[in-house]
Amino acid sequence: MAIDLKPQSAFAVAQQRLERAAQVMNLPDDSLRMLKEVKRELTVHFPVQLDNGSVHVYTGYRVQHNISRGPAKGGLRYAADLTLDMVKALAMLMTWKCAVVGIPYGGAKGGVTVDPKALSKNELEHLTRRYATEIALLIGPERDVPAPDLGTNAQVMAWIMDTISMHTGHSVTASVTGKPVDVGGSQGRHESPGRGITYLTLEGLKYLRIDDETPTVAVQGFGHVGASTARLLQDAGLRVVAVGDSKGAVYNSKGLDLAALREHRQYRGGVSGFKKADDLSPRELLELPVTVLVPAARENQITAENASRLQARLITEAANAAIAPDADDILHDKGIFVLPDILANSGGVVVSYFEWVQDLQAFFWEEEEINTKLHHVITRAFYEVLHLSVNKRLNMRTAAYALAVQRVANANSVRGIYP
Ligand code: GLU
Repeated sequence: MAIDLKPQSAFAVAQQRLERAAQVMNLPDDSLRMLKEVKRELTVHFPVQLDNGSVHVYTGYRVQHNISRGPAKGGLRYAADLTLDMVKALAMLMTWKCAVVGIPYGGAKGGVTVDPKALSKNELEHLTRRYATEIALLIGPERDVPAPDLGTNAQVMAWIMDTISMHTGHSVTASVTGKPVDVGGSQGRHESPGRGITYLTLEGLKYLRIDDETPTVAVQGFGHVGASTARLLQDAGLRVVAVGDSKGAVYNSKGLDLAALREHRQYRGGVSGFKKADDLSPRELLELPVTVLVPAARENQITAENASRLQARLITEAANAAIAPDADDILHDKGIFVLPDILANSGGVVVSYFEWVQDLQAFFWEEEEINTKLHHVITRAFYEVLHLSVNKRLNMRTAAYALAVQRVANANSVRGIYP
């Protein structure tokens, strides 16, 4: 039999995972067909004048996969390798993410094919404002609400909110989440992805009854999400023994001084060469004998090639699609408990939801209240997925997908088909 060695499209992988979930829930074919495609995909090409006076034409996207449960929701990614296929896959993932934690949104994703680090602040602002204008026909508090993702941040969200507001003639703070607190952002939004990952990891450890030792942790990725996750897990009493970034990784079995490591990274541009720790390659970090592994960097880090060498007991999949589909069964057979991406990294969008609610009601909550509400939503979702996983003998990813897909299918079905 000929083996197809073509790299699989990210959207095809997302569709396969949907099909598997649909199968275990006995979803009718009509229902599956409606969920397999994205609802809208907008591609825009637009010019930006660079600081040297030349004009560059960029390509951007906004894709809405499903809006049956509420407005479209999802981040904007600025990355040099961004494609429409990837944005479609990530938009579908957002639909499941919002459904699995039970917040009233559909799923969307967008972004621009650009390396944001290669632009000056002035160029980044012009690119952002023009891109926001191009996709403005889709955006709004009741329609589609963007947020930060890889390569974008609170400042970029402030520019987008300002651009939409200028077009509308008044401030529309609820059109975007992940904004700075000065312009309708929420307390706790910045740290919410790391906080969600931490709450879930602690629930996972409790379920696995790993309470007789100080659990050790390796975190791959020391960007915004990885760094705050490492710190929050350490604050919760776990021992962070390894941290890696795109260039290297460091390991100390007694635990790392994370504040000193952050300073070192700022000064040296990477974690490698940190005193009081041994250097490792980013791949070696994944194979360490730790209790918890948190891949918080990029997609496809754990594949059929390295999955059998992993030694962690629990993996919290912080980065979207960090585990390739061909690795799932290997990890399951090894008895490694996986908290899948749509559950593990939902903290960001849950607090985005709180931000949107606060903007709409113009009444803001204290950080403690936000964190308590986040804990409640995440823990409820964890146990709902766990029950399905135990009752139907599914791994946690399939259970999370199945729960989410069923909720969206129910919304489609109860609404019926127009006209
Ligand atoms: N980009 C984040 C994610 O993928 C946050 C999305 C949001 O807050 O809308 O979950």
